[in-house]
Amino acid sequence: MTLSLLGRAARYPAGLRDLGAGLYAWLQPNGELGESNAGLVVGDGESLLIDTLWDTRLTRRMLDAMRPHTANAPIRRLVNTHGDPDHCWGNQLLSGAEIIATRAGAADMLGEDPARLRLLAQGGRALGRVASRRLPLPGVAQMAGLGSYAGMLAAYDFSDVEVTPPTLTFDGKLELDIGTRKVELIEVGPAHTPGDLIVHALDEKVVFAADLMFVGVTPIIWVGPVENWLAGLDRIAQLQPKVVVPGHGPLTDLDGVMAMRSYWEFVAPAVRERLRAGMDAAAAARDILQSPEFASQPFVRWDAPERLVVNAEIIARNDGGLSGRVSAAERLRLIARMGQLSLELGGCR
Ligand SMILES: [Zn+2]
Repeated sequence: MTLSLLGRAARYPAGLRDLGAGLYAWLQPNGELGESNAGLVVGDGESLLIDTLWDTRLTRRMLDAMRPHTANAPIRRLVNTHGDPDHCWGNQLLSGAEIIATRAGAADMLGEDPARLRLLAQGGRALGRVASRRLPLPGVAQMAGLGSYAGMLAAYDFSDVEVTPPTLTFDGKLELDIGTRKVELIEVGPAHTPGDLIVHALDEKVVFAADLMFVGVTPIIWVGPVENWLAGLDRIAQLQPKVVVPGHGPLTDLDGVMAMRSYWEFVAPAVRERLRAGMDAAAAARDILQSPEFASQPFVRWDAPERLVVNAEIIARNDGGLSGRVSAAERLRLIARMGQLSLELGGCR
């Protein structure tokens, strides 16, 4: 049995997938926390890398696997699809390459700090130990929740990460010539994060959708609004891709895009209805996950359903007129709530 980075049974093969015509996807099953995908576009004499991974060890392994294809077409440009660290904390290994992101994505990349995540990983282990003693203290449930989530960070090594920001930023759209082939970078954020973009390989009808697409894993929205996420999915559909490389999960196509759409179309009104009835976001998330309507949806089988806690919170914030990233403290609180709900739901994380 092959294991995922988080130590679970891998549901699909890891590594480099040949999409034909010099396009490749790098897949890290099962697409859960930090198990992010990347991509490679090999042109005449040069290549474009789409995202690095959460640490240098994982990124080095990917670059080694890509070497047979990049030996005569070195990676001269790297595009970071957004600022989440699992998509850019291997950037330092691409020294000399131009690093491209949206202006909003580039600014967002500076918002997380390897030292802070190292601390959270260590703290998570300690919290998990305290919580496992089931002391009748107030806050133990939250500690257990934070501990269970932060415990997953042990799969990654942030000890030598040097945050390496983009050298070229843009707003809206940017066309690139990679050797003789054309690639479009299309800004679709703010949605998952402040500066999301997708990569469209025009001639091959392949879209690298980054974290606008999760397959078999519940998506998480950190900024919103949901309506932007839906518009981004529509944009992908308009491009009529034959293959969609998600940010997390196995390769998909337009059916996967429609499945992602149906999640948000179900969740957004369900959250709003419960907020109007006086529930807070966490209560709304719990209520939805335990409802018969949710049980009959295809996404009931997706991993990490507890992410609905964050999704509900962000919908509530956006509806209340707030935008942008939540504060670091708020983010920790939300992570603790997700972990707590996951434990309550009987999740093993
Ligand atoms: Zn991601």
